[in-house]
Formats: sequence, structure tokens, C-alpha cells
Amino acid sequence: MENKKEMRKWLEDFNLNHPLVIAGPCSAETEDQVLKIAHELKDSKVSVFRAGIWKPRTRPGGFEGVGEIGLKWLQKAKKETGLLMGTEVATAAHCKLALEHDIDVLWVGARTTANPFAVQEIADTLKGTDKIVLVKNPVNPDLALWLGGVERLYMAGIEKLGVIHRGFSTYEKTKYRNIPEWQIAIELQNKFPDLPLIIDPSHITGDRKMIFEVTQEALDLNYDGMIIETHYDPDNAWSDAAQQVTPDALKKIIKDLTIRKTDDTTDEYSSKMTKLRANIDVLDANLLELLGKRMKVADEIGQVKKDANVAILQNNRWNEILGKMILEGEKKGLTEEFVLRMFKAIHQESIGHQEKIFNA
Ligand code: PEP
Ligand code: MN
Repeated sequence: MENKKEMRKWLEDFNLNHPLVIAGPCSAETEDQVLKIAHELKDSKVSVFRAGIWKPRTRPGGFEGVGEIGLKWLQKAKKETGLLMGTEVATAAHCKLALEHDIDVLWVGARTTANPFAVQEIADTLKGTDKIVLVKNPVNPDLALWLGGVERLYMAGIEKLGVIHRGFSTYEKTKYRNIPEWQIAIELQNKFPDLPLIIDPSHITGDRKMIFEVTQEALDLNYDGMIIETHYDPDNAWSDAAQQVTPDALKKIIKDLTIRKTDDTTDEYSSKMTKLRANIDVLDANLLELLGKRMKVADEIGQVKKDANVAILQNNRWNEILGKMILEGEKKGLTEEFVLRMFKAIHQESIGHQEKIFNA
């Protein structure tokens, strides 16, 4: 899949004002619930109404969605409000029903993207459709698997494509329900700048209090849109209660967001940026120079260890360095996480160098 501008065209056609906003409940619960929320979102920046009809649940016994009848409610909501309608599809049967009911936006859920057979089945069933199809990231942090899902759909002749970043599962408890791993989405933008990228702060945070900050962070990173779970009575929602916001809260979030431009072509901006970037370029060159020097010393250490027949890995020394650098880093405004990541990478490279010397 090369860069294809047509992947982006739908966004320009449908989304008259950046960014694209998709909103609605996690699940369609009743006809009244669907219609009430759709009407509350009608005269706002929302272009697409979302509601899950089939809900993949982690454990049996949860609410698994109302099924086909919900599609009728969406059709009614579309007729009454003019909003486009979107829902999740996970099987060939879901796709057929969604197409029959003229659903405008279909998305592949995170659990489904993780399964290439399931995505292929969806691609085969949707073959050539002109509906918009969005692929959520897989539950595991694997960019190739995510892009593989998009490729399967693209190869089935579907051109109105996009991706939804909903975060990744972890065993560790963090402040997020699903950790964002922003660098994966940044790499995706680098590889496919024309693939519309939508943030799902609801499933990333799992907590309505954090929806604003995560959405703003995404806009700061050039995202094209957002999908936000919205319910008139979030606390009593049948699924994902803690993360849903009311239509009024959603409107406030949208109002408070700062929309960034992709670039600025004024002379003032470019002269400031040219200077600062020249600065960065010099510093980057210095960094590389220093790292190269550091590796030369590591090589010498490798030779001394080899001559004395001492193992490469010296854990005590390594932990000492890490502890010291974390403290030093803090003083310079560097986070512990960054210092750890950076020194682990440097250490790995040193070990690689010393392995070479041992094996010479
Ligand atoms: C959803 O959008 O309601 C949903 C189930 O999302 P995900 O596939 O990201 O878990
Ligand atoms: Mn949900």
C-alpha cells in the first residue's frame, strides 16, 4: 500500500470543518436512547453518530449489543437528524446487515484487527464498497498488524479508509485503560501521511475526566478527528459507563480544544523556526559524535574484559549508572522514563559492540 491520496478524499468531502467528530453512545440500548442522543448531537460539530450494535465483551455475561434491530434505530436517527451513521462490524454477517441498512461508516474493532482471518472476511464481504471503513488499532502494540488490516481492505477496492487510535492493552495498571503508545501513531503518520487518523480518547482513558487532555494531545500531533462516546446518562450506560460524556460535556470539550494548523507560511514563523532548527541540527550532530566516542570507549572496555575473560554484562555497574543518570536527568528536566529508555538503548548498543570484540 503506497501513499494514496484517495484515502484522504472522503475526509475532505464529508468533513467540511476540521477536525472530524464522531460521537454517540458506546452501545445502542433502546430506540429512544439512540434518537434522544442523536437529536442532542444534531446541531453541533458532530458529523457522524456512533453506536455499537454488536459488542465484543471481554467476559461472557456482559451486554453484547441489541443486534440487527439497532440498525433500524440508526436508520431512523439518520432520517430525523441527517447525521451519518457508524457502527462496529466484526463478521461477514455484520457487514452484510450494515450494508443492507445503509450504514455510512463501518469500523473494525481492536479485537478484530488483531485477527487477520477476521479482517480478511470483512474485506471480502465489503469488497468495493464506497462506505467509509475505519480500522481500530489491534489490542497489542503492533503497527504492522494495524497496517495489515488497512491493506486487506485497500486490496478489496475500498478507498475511503482511515484508522482509529484507541490505545493498547497492558497487564500493568496505568492511569489509562489502554496505553496510547503515541510513537506508534506517529510512525504510522510518517509512513502514511494521507491515511486519516482519528483519536478514540474514550477507550484510551476509560475515564471521562481525561478525555479532553488526550484529545488535545492528539490534535497537537496532527490527528484528523476524534470518536468520543457520548450518552445523556453516562453513569447508567449499559457499557463503558465511566468513560462516556454527556452531549453538553462533549460540546464543551470541542469548544475548548485548540485546533492546530498543519503549518504556518508566514516569514516571522519560518525565520524563527529556521534558527531554532539549525540549533537542533547542531545539537543532534553533537549527540551522534558523543555516542560514537562513547562506543569507542565501550570497545576498549570490551577488549580489557576479553583479555581478562570477564563476562560482558556487569549488572552492578549498570544499575549504578542508571540510578545516577536518572537523578542527573531529572535536574535537566528529563523524565525518568526517557532516561531509562535512552540508556537501555545505549547499553544494548555497547553490549553489541563488545560481543563483536569477544567474537573477533
Ligand atoms: C467501541 O468502540 O465501543 C469498542 C468496542 O472499541 P474497541 O474495539 O476499541 O475496544
Ligand atoms: Mn465502548
